[in-house]
Amino acid sequence: MKNPKTQRKLLAVFAHPDDETFICGGTLAKYGAEGVEITLVSATRGEMGRRMGNPPYLNRESMAAAREAELREACAHLGVRSLHFLDIRDKTVEFIDEAALTERVAEFIRELEPDAVLTFHEKLGGHPDHCAIGKATTAAFRRAAARGALYFISFGETMAQPERYGYSREDVVRVDVSGHLQAKLAAFRAHRCQTEIDEWVWRSDREALSRFGKHEYFMRGAGKSRSGDSRDLF
Ligand SMILES: [Zn+2]
Repeated sequence: MKNPKTQRKLLAVFAHPDDETFICGGTLAKYGAEGVEITLVSATRGEMGRRMGNPPYLNRESMAAAREAELREACAHLGVRSLHFLDIRDKTVEFIDEAALTERVAEFIRELEPDAVLTFHEKLGGHPDHCAIGKATTAAFRRAAARGALYFISFGETMAQPERYGYSREDVVRVDVSGHLQAKLAAFRAHRCQTEIDEWVWRSDREALSRFGKHEYFMRGAGKSRSGDSRDLF
């Protein structure tokens, strides 16, 4: 039995099925493999996604269930053990009452007491749903007086040069995911209706894996990690 006092816990709060895989799937796979208890909260089921399979076989009605099933499969590959939905309609997260949304996320934080919380930066999220859930999660982290550290995800290699975005190197954690790209690729393929159109995902493993960077980058948002290590979220 794991000692509950030393069990590391990570909470990721994102907007859509696939955010977890496409943005930080390597990091989740790494910590999942290390036995970290990972909980994923997805605000929506992504039913307004523009990609409907290739050739298209989904519609607005069937999409939510398909994407939920795909996300569950991706979670299994990444070692995410617990998945929750906030049941918000895709593309409407920014219109949800902010205080209520913040409280819902704060409840997860109080209940789980995570050491690390991952979400979107409220301005650099890149999609209105991302920014809205990031803003609410950031507020929730403060409201719940969380004990761990809050991080903002970043896209690809953008934070390899944090100065460009007004950040310094000390603000960035760089996680080496090179040992976990196979799991990341499996999760990409699990998100079938979103990746079918991306030919490279379906080429040989070797070719597909070569598309992934060896690192994923996170900006420090609030709180402190125990190690203070620039290569570890904990
Ligand atoms: Zn998204």
